[in-house]
Parts: sequence; structure tokens; C-alpha cells
Amino acid sequence: MTLPLPHPALSATDPELAALVGAEEQLQAETLRMIPSENYVSRAVLEASGTVLQNKYSEGYAGRRYYEGQQNIDQVELLAIARAKALFGVEHANVQPYSGSPANLAVYLAFAEPGDTVMGMALPMGGHLTHGWGVSATGRWFRGVQYGVRQDTGLTDFDEVRELALKERPKVIFCGGTALPRTIDFAAFAEIARESGAVLVADVAHIAGLIAGGAHPSPVPHADVISTTTHKTLRGPRGAMLMSREEHAKAIDKAVFPGLQGGPHNQTTAAIAVALHEAAQPSFRSYAASVVANAKVLAEELLARGFDLVSGGTDNHLILMDLTPKNVPGKVAAKALDRAGIVVNYNTVPYDPRKPFDPSGVRIGTPSLTSRGLGTEHMAAVADWIDRGVSAAGAGDEEALAAIRAEVAELMAEYPAPGLSA
Ligand SMILES: *Cc1c(COP(=O)(O)O)cnc(C)c1O
Repeated sequence: MTLPLPHPALSATDPELAALVGAEEQLQAETLRMIPSENYVSRAVLEASGTVLQNKYSEGYAGRRYYEGQQNIDQVELLAIARAKALFGVEHANVQPYSGSPANLAVYLAFAEPGDTVMGMALPMGGHLTHGWGVSATGRWFRGVQYGVRQDTGLTDFDEVRELALKERPKVIFCGGTALPRTIDFAAFAEIARESGAVLVADVAHIAGLIAGGAHPSPVPHADVISTTTHKTLRGPRGAMLMSREEHAKAIDKAVFPGLQGGPHNQTTAAIAVALHEAAQPSFRSYAASVVANAKVLAEELLARGFDLVSGGTDNHLILMDLTPKNVPGKVAAKALDRAGIVVNYNTVPYDPRKPFDPSGVRIGTPSLTSRGLGTEHMAAVADWIDRGVSAAGAGDEEALAAIRAEVAELMAEYPAPGLSA
């Protein structure tokens, strides 16, 4: 299929906007997308999210709506819920949260009062804003106590987590994060949550697809609540889900609606149902395994090229590079790689001496390139491009960056992206 994809009605009504969509399709097709929270959804997911389901208001839950005409919408939502429960092996699923941040806010609403103590990993250590970080509503309306990783290992310090939890007695403990390259020990967190009387929330936004595909241990039965986005490794539309045992079902449902949100985005619910169906197929298990295999090989290849990786490598889809030894700031490297057709994000590293808006690290991941079909045999080339790109960033060598961009585009043309090909 040639790009841009046909959008006949959009092109006729609003050519200016259609041109921007076409340009984005081109960009996503030509570049090596390595932001670990991103992916390529299938054509089926794209189609579901562009349906007339979006015309419908359906505040409430299936069988208990505040609007009539829910004959089909109820079935869509029940299908998504049934698939989520089957895929993750949970008793309850709420598929209405608009995205990961509102899903987490609903968790606070369900289990804490303003001013209560909550606990999560600090943002600069790899946690998420919504785990009680100061600039977030969650850190302003609650008393956020934050744990980190050990400076020597880059791994969660469970002694620190336990000591903090027993001293501060948080209502809610979040585990999980946005820049964690290692397996999360849900059982260890659960033990600490039990000892301290806290509700344990496993925020698996980044790794939900790996869990569904059997490439990362499940937080079931350890966590009281599982929060996840649906658009990262799970490869669904932008949305989120909250899952739990039956005992917390009521509290969670009440918090999402009417506590926090109005009408659910039914077109998103439909696309989540499609993504969950795709994630239940055997091919998704191979996908999840390949994401991790690719990341592990890429980490080895980067180490061999003198890169410093936080925690020394990866167990999942994500690699956090500390570019301090390369003498190139993370932002400078990220912007240069972008010009080289490799899309990444600059990121703080634990104990970063630099500022969050100009940090030492770059975060990369393998979900998107694996969705295109790249395998371990390509990771040496990817590491080479990154290595050359970072050197060119340091030297201000625009020609070298342009050369990489051409090589990247050539390989990408051989591996059409889902959603962008027929
Ligand atoms: C991405 C992410 C979120 C937030 O998701 P949004 O959809 O961007 O609001 C929450 N928690 C974690 C750990 C994440 O990685």
C-alpha cells in the first residue's frame, strides 16, 4: 500500500488536516520508533476506534445506564470486560478510564482521602507522575512518600520500601513505572503492603502486553488493584483499564463513574476489545517474547559499544542509557537521533546530576520495531545507528545523521508497519 493512506472524506472536507495525518503516516512508516511507551496498532484497532460508537453517550455501566439506546454499547463494553478478565485472569475489570493518569486518579478516589499518605517510586527514579510526585495533582492532594532505586545496582531497594512503608503507613502503595528496565517483584511489594496495611496497586502500563503475552510475571494474585494503559506494549487504542478482585469492584467502578468521569469513550472501548482479542492469540505470545529478546540483544550490543545502561541491561522492553560517559547530554542525543530517523526520548537517570528538562539519559524500547517484524538479527544494526548517532550528536555532524536516516528508511521500507499497510 502506498502512503498516505486514503482518507477520502477527510481529504475532501479538511485537506489541511488530512495533509498532516498523511505526513504523520509517512513519518511513522519511515522512522525507527523507539519510544518504549509507543507502538503501532493494527488496522482492526484503528477501524474500531473510528466508528459511530463515538456518537453515543452511555454514562453508567452495562444494564445500569443513565441514557437509553444502549443495546449495542452494552454488548461492546461487556465484551471488552470479558476479554480483559480472561486475558489477565482477574475477577473484575473496568474498561472506562480515559487514559492511564485518570485511571490512577480513580484509584486514589477509591482508596484514599485528600491529605492521606500515598507511596510510589519517585519520578526521576523511574516512577510515574501520578504515583504521588509533587507537580501532579496526586502529589498536591495527597502526601506523597517516594522510594527509589539503589545507586549501585539501579534496582528497587526493598529494604527502603519496607522501612518507609512501616514508618509512613501509606493508604496506597504504587509499584511499576515508566523507566524500569527490570522485572517487577510484585510478591515482594505485596508482602510490604500487607505488613503496612496498604492497598497495593500494580501500575503495569508499560508492561501489560508482556504480561498478557507471558513475557513478564503477572501481578495476579499479588496486587489488590492493577492499573494499565491499553496503548503501550498491549498495542491497543489510547485508553486504560483497572482490574481487581471482586472485593474491590464496587469501589473502583464508583470511583471511575460517577466519581471522576462522565460518559465512557465507546469507540475506545471497542478498540480495546479488539486489542484484547488480538492479545489472546498465540501470535501475541511470540510478539511479547520477541520484544524482550530484541531488547536483551540490543542491550548487549550497546554495552559492547561502550554504552552505560541503568541496572546494566534489561529484562523487558525498555533500556535506559546514561550518556554521561559519552559526554553527550540526553536531550542533545535525542534530538540528533530524531534527525537521524530514530525517535527516542530524553530521560532522567537515577541520581541524575542534571535537570529533568536537560537530563543525562535516553530511554529506548523495542515494542514498535518488533511490531514491524524486526528481530534479534537486526539489533546490531540498530545499536550501530544509535552509536553513530550519539557520536554525530557530540560532533555536530549533520551529514552523518542524514546518512543514518537514509539507511533507517531503507530497512523500514522492508518491514511495513501494522496499521500503515493493508
Ligand atoms: C504511561 C503511564 C501512565 C499514564 O498514562 P497516560 O495514558 O499517559 O495518562 C501511568 N502510569 C505509568 C506507569 C505509565 O507508564
